[in-house]
Amino acid sequence: MADLVGVINTLLEELTKLPGIGPKSAERIAHFLLSGDRGNAVSLAVALRSVAEKVRPCRECFNLTEGEVCPVCSDPRRDPAVVCVVGTPRDLGSFERAGNFRGRYHVLGGRLAPLDGVGPERLTFSALAERVRKGGVREVILATSPTLEGDGTALFVFNLLSGSGVTVTRLARGLPSGSSLELANAQMLAEALDGRRAF
Ligand SMILES: [Zn+2]
Repeated sequence: MADLVGVINTLLEELTKLPGIGPKSAERIAHFLLSGDRGNAVSLAVALRSVAEKVRPCRECFNLTEGEVCPVCSDPRRDPAVVCVVGTPRDLGSFERAGNFRGRYHVLGGRLAPLDGVGPERLTFSALAERVRKGGVREVILATSPTLEGDGTALFVFNLLSGSGVTVTRLARGLPSGSSLELANAQMLAEALDGRRAF
């Protein structure tokens, strides 16, 4: 794409900010959007604007949602006494695809990473402690990724909740250590959840 006009340049810059998109992929996407009628580009722009404006964290669990409360928290068939603590909404999605969990979630918003400057104040620990303090929670399942940072984050939650009276469990060690939950398949996650044990 020689002799770029400004708006195309801006588009390429924005595209290369996306995860997994390098300059070559950005050019391919830009060519696609600019070819033929511009319907695809306009639909994409509308979809992006909609998510930017409408999607926000669930008031209860910090899952991403369009309303005040996410579909899991507003489902009366989901057991509010069992709370699965995950790092990100993507991890929550992985457990939902696994399909065997009937409790609710708490999304931390990442993992503790002191070397990257991510301390406890950046995650939703205090909201979790408050949720437990209000009562009605019987078990908290720590389902952070089986990485060094994920384990550190789980330990932080365990210490945070010690003395609260809730049972704290963690996933069975069926998951490959050092991997992220995003890479685990549905069957593995379902088994890890079923085989959970005391922290
Ligand atoms: Zn929710």
